[in-house]
Amino acid sequence: MRVRFAPSPTGDLHLGGARTALMNYAFTKAHSNGKFILRIEDTDQERSSRASEEAISKALKACGILWDEGPDCGGALGPYRQSERLDIYKNHIDTLLENRKAYRCFFTDDELAQMKETSGQKIFRLPDTYRSLTQDAAQNLVDQGKPYTIRLDVSQCASEYTFKDMLKDSVVLPSLMVDDFVIYRSNGFPTYNFAAAVDDHLMEMTHVIRGEEHLSNTLRQLMVYDAFDWVPPTFLHMPLIMGRDAEGNPSKLSKRHGDVSVLTFLEKGVLPEAFTNYLLTLGYTYPNNVEMYSLDELISGFDLQYFSKSAAFWDIKKLYWYNTEYLKQMSDDDFFDLAKKYLTPETVPENFYNALETFKACIVYYKAHIELLSELPEHLALFFDPAQELSNESKTYLSDAENAEAFWRVQDALLELIRPDCVFSEVLNQVKEKTGLKGKRLFMSIRVALTNASSGPELSEIVDRVPTDWLLTRLRAFNRES
Ligand code: GLU
Repeated sequence: MRVRFAPSPTGDLHLGGARTALMNYAFTKAHSNGKFILRIEDTDQERSSRASEEAISKALKACGILWDEGPDCGGALGPYRQSERLDIYKNHIDTLLENRKAYRCFFTDDELAQMKETSGQKIFRLPDTYRSLTQDAAQNLVDQGKPYTIRLDVSQCASEYTFKDMLKDSVVLPSLMVDDFVIYRSNGFPTYNFAAAVDDHLMEMTHVIRGEEHLSNTLRQLMVYDAFDWVPPTFLHMPLIMGRDAEGNPSKLSKRHGDVSVLTFLEKGVLPEAFTNYLLTLGYTYPNNVEMYSLDELISGFDLQYFSKSAAFWDIKKLYWYNTEYLKQMSDDDFFDLAKKYLTPETVPENFYNALETFKACIVYYKAHIELLSELPEHLALFFDPAQELSNESKTYLSDAENAEAFWRVQDALLELIRPDCVFSEVLNQVKEKTGLKGKRLFMSIRVALTNASSGPELSEIVDRVPTDWLLTRLRAFNRES
């Protein structure tokens, strides 16, 4: 079994691509000796870049997707970058030209645009001008230096192509849906549909698994297989990942739904295992309603019947739910090590950064209280940013008159009692005595006064670690007018 992931390196890996890669990987690794191949489809030279290729590789590796053959590690059927396979395409083009399955088309872009405009046809069909040109006449034009593209002669193809999609019944694609399409550009580069079909054949792909949006490409690729008399691989077209519009109706996933780059999610602090788990649910329904599983677990119980047959909906809240669950499962030490990557001299002040170990218990508290690791600096600001406005949480607490009354009494008492080297448990008792408050209202008022939040790490953790002058500055920052 051989499958491939074939990204065009024209940007970051997006979640749709990552899901395709994951499902290909799971599918092939569920079979003994299944191979996963990374092929870089960089024939669009203007839009492709090595930087994108590297970013895609990095994102795939982070999701646990490792390839057996690819541009970096090679393999018997390479090269695996299409820009390094131009001779191969050229040879195959020559074969099609010799067999008259393809022809040189000398229409200029302007001529084509004009013909399309005046034709009134829904699917524009090219006139016979160059399809019926003799080889000699075409060569004559080439010798005159006339630029040309090479098109597949679709009139020689079957009237329809039927294939058995692994997820659907038979799919019938009428050839009338396409006209003679360009397989080779005037700049000497093949087009996607031609190069993909040639490579899938030469790289001996047994299965092609990709999103449903590629169905019209599948028709073109089947035509290329036909022109060479090759047996096509088995196809599986996955339903789309959709978003929802403002009214909650299904809509195409777009920028409106937020960032879709895998690396951006990971940089924000979504754990790769949470991201992978969530993406897998967008293509596969794990049996018995199990929600949390790893790629390896999916592979070990893999069954084609669990591939999703209907559209999946992208739901960022669900992704973040997965992240909180995975964060909670981490050991304190692992969480702390990871947190340190987000608590850097760029995100927190130097004195706090230099004292991270001291604050370990406070930092670890947030393991169960954040959605994203990138939220950490903001939460921890209570330790290093003493002068703050009353937060919304604090304002909500103070909106109750009795709470407010207690709060200001507590604030006065704390300002009086907090001294360098004071012992927190003693301060607590003294505040209790001085204010006559007790229970929840006493503790909440102290918490809001000292942390400007109504929830957070153990108060003793905070007070024992935050320098006394910070605490006092914060206390003083709150006054009845604010
Ligand atoms: N390079 C194509 C893309 O990124 C590959 C599609 C396919 O899997 O054939 O969309």
